Amino acid sequence: MRLLADSHVHTKFSADAKDDMFDMCKTAVDRGLSYICFTEHVDYNQFDASYHYFNYDKYSDAIERAREKFGDKIQVLSGIEFGEPHVYQKEFEKMLSNKFDVVMAAIHYIGRDKVGVHWVDGTYEYDHVLFKDYTNERIFHEYYEELLQVVKLGGFDVLAHLDNPKRYLKESGHEEEIIGEIVHELVNAGIAIEINTSPLRRGYHECTPDFEILKQYLDFGGTRVSIGSDAHCCREVAMNFDYAVNLVREHKATLGIFKNRCFITI
Ligand SMILES: [Zn+2]
Ligand SMILES: [Zn+2]
Repeated sequence: MRLLADSHVHTKFSADAKDDMFDMCKTAVDRGLSYICFTEHVDYNQFDASYHYFNYDKYSDAIERAREKFGDKIQVLSGIEFGEPHVYQKEFEKMLSNKFDVVMAAIHYIGRDKVGVHWVDGTYEYDHVLFKDYTNERIFHEYYEELLQVVKLGGFDVLAHLDNPKRYLKESGHEEEIIGEIVHELVNAGIAIEINTSPLRRGYHECTPDFEILKQYLDFGGTRVSIGSDAHCCREVAMNFDYAVNLVREHKATLGIFKNRCFITI
């Protein structure tokens, strides 16, 4: 099976990733990809390792250099994975004035107090403190509540790893009703979902999301899907893509990438 695009990859421009863009491009070419999209973390949450870490100018220079070096072998696409844009709306708007091929939104934190922007201790969704104090059900529910606010805000192209606590909890937390509201908003706004393969390499048997949520999205009239490994090092580029491509084809979703923030079927 031909693996076309890895649409969710991190380099050293994200605080938690290890490898540089050239090495990631070289790996993607070696693995036969036609597209690689760099989606670096942009975070304004003081608890996050990537807090104020992203540097747009240096990043866009690196993208240009990667295009010069690898452009005849692979299309290098630029993007960001913006954490909790509904909480950091001013920063989000400002970031959107820069040029990207794709803007992804993600939730990585829960446990916010309901008054304002205050994150209690142990808020990262896979933090062991949170594991101890919250039931899995509560983690998923609070996560989906935050996610609903993100999709209502909109302004982005792809919603990253829709049921992400699965990656750490190693169980599915399907809540049909609130996910129904989330996918309804996504479909109305023309926002794509991604099939993120990262749980597979962490020992779980599903992507995030997998068939249940994908089916809900398609049943609501959604079509646009991208596939991403969420690689944080070369080894992880396009890992387990056969599974994800099969999933997308089986459900007759439209697989694509974003270029200049427009969806292109691949
Ligand atoms: Zn993420
Ligand atoms: Zn990511």
